[in-house]
Amino acid sequence: MQHLKDSFKHKGKRKQLILALADMGIKDQRILDAFDVVPRHFFLDTAFEDQAYSNMAFQIGSGQTISHPYTVAFQTELLEIQKGDKVLEIGTGSGFQTSILCELGTKVFSIERHSDLHLAAKHVVHHLNYSPKLFFGDGYKGSPLNAPFDKILVTCGAPEIPQELLKQLKVNGIMVIPVGEGTEQKMLKIIKQGETSFSKEEFGTFKFVPMLERTVNK
Ligand code: SAH
Repeated sequence: MQHLKDSFKHKGKRKQLILALADMGIKDQRILDAFDVVPRHFFLDTAFEDQAYSNMAFQIGSGQTISHPYTVAFQTELLEIQKGDKVLEIGTGSGFQTSILCELGTKVFSIERHSDLHLAAKHVVHHLNYSPKLFFGDGYKGSPLNAPFDKILVTCGAPEIPQELLKQLKVNGIMVIPVGEGTEQKMLKIIKQGETSFSKEEFGTFKFVPMLERTVNK
């Protein structure tokens, strides 16, 4: 695991990443500021430390990947985050996206199906003094005890929209989810307009690891 030390060099690289994200179309200054604060290299194996701030996805163990910075920023922007929002994240993975959401002042509930990733993310996120609620479990079930949520963010590719998650979204709430079978998904932004009515908008093609049922203990 990483040394959890931040340096002047890392801070400089973060500034460059922010410029790149802005160039790619990320407009929300609060999101760019959050990328300035959260040290992405803490979430990666030391072998990748030097590239931590390039716009790349990396292996984080258990065959999973940390999302590209652009994807994290883009999904976060689609969520139209407000301070104090209750956000459900499916796929904690490294905990990087979780930390960005925490830095934006939201109350995060995040679920991961791999127990080793769940534990590693817990360690880093707490080291950064964020306090999301992290669960080891199957994201298809959501978190009924903590529902309803203002926002739901799915960070793995879902074969279809999980109906249980729609139920756990507040009216006027937003769900951002990559949907599609196979290796590519369409990014969808779903707004819950009423108990049973939803609007759906598509935002391009992305590649995520698949959303799978059941938990994995190691
Ligand atoms: N947000 C993460 C992205 C990690 S990749 C980050 O910033 O690093 C997506 C993650 O979703 C993987 O860790 C994978 O194990 C997890 N996942 C897949 N299906 C899941 C499910 N049904 N419930 C919870 N997590 C799931």
